[in-house]
Amino acid sequence: MNKSKKNPLSRLCVHTITTKPWTLEQAIEKYMLSGIQGISVWRSYLAGLNLKSCRNMIKESGLEAVALVRGGFFTGLKKEGRAKALDENRKAIDEASAIKANMVVLVCGATPRQSLHISRDQIKSALEILLPYAEKNEVKLAIEPLHPMYADTRSAINTLKQANKMAEYFNSPWLGVALDVYHVWWDPDLEKQISRCGENNNLLAVHLCDWKIPTQDMLNDREIMGKGIIEISQIIQWIEKTGYDGFYEVEIFSDHYWRKDQDIFLKEIIDSYLKYNI
Ligand code: ZN
Repeated sequence: MNKSKKNPLSRLCVHTITTKPWTLEQAIEKYMLSGIQGISVWRSYLAGLNLKSCRNMIKESGLEAVALVRGGFFTGLKKEGRAKALDENRKAIDEASAIKANMVVLVCGATPRQSLHISRDQIKSALEILLPYAEKNEVKLAIEPLHPMYADTRSAINTLKQANKMAEYFNSPWLGVALDVYHVWWDPDLEKQISRCGENNNLLAVHLCDWKIPTQDMLNDREIMGKGIIEISQIIQWIEKTGYDGFYEVEIFSDHYWRKDQDIFLKEIIDSYLKYNI
């Protein structure tokens, strides 16, 4: 294809959580009208809705359902709790399959006062059980390494290297990695690990936002790309070098932006995305 004629938004996807005040229906309509091509749906947006109708809404809009967000939280001190987490993940896979999302993103879990090693073993055991179910439903599982500041309660997988290792252990086309620049930008090993992830066909998804200075809240104070300090262009270059041809998913948690006009916010997101010339 002649690159100059390519739709500059053809690889842009937005997570529904980014425009949190909008319902799923509003998000679908607004993304579509803005020329965005993909949508990643957070599970809370499906609550109480008929999944078939959600699927139809997405299909009719022409958007691709890139991911269902999120599953995981596999760890726990008690066996019953971990079994319950597996059930919840099967439900997430069912939902992804119903709306025809390509993958479920996994925030793998961490349990306070339990060693991260044990948590990682529990994550591995959970994936062992869950992977055949994902395959049967033709839904991929994407391990998202989280910034170490979340190693207390959210994930014991904190580097791309750890995520790569886990994905390589299973060596399955149904399991890979979701790379979020917010979580990995600081890693001195990042270039090497991105290339390793690509070589093993494990790079399933890329999430974009930026790291704000100063960050006021560890969770809900993320920035629009280009307004923070992450070297996003450099990371995109490393990703593109692997041959990655998937979506770039904008995922911004921000109390600040959620209070603002979401149409203006979405326009700012698109403008900043276009600067990367993806
Ligand atoms: Zn993410």
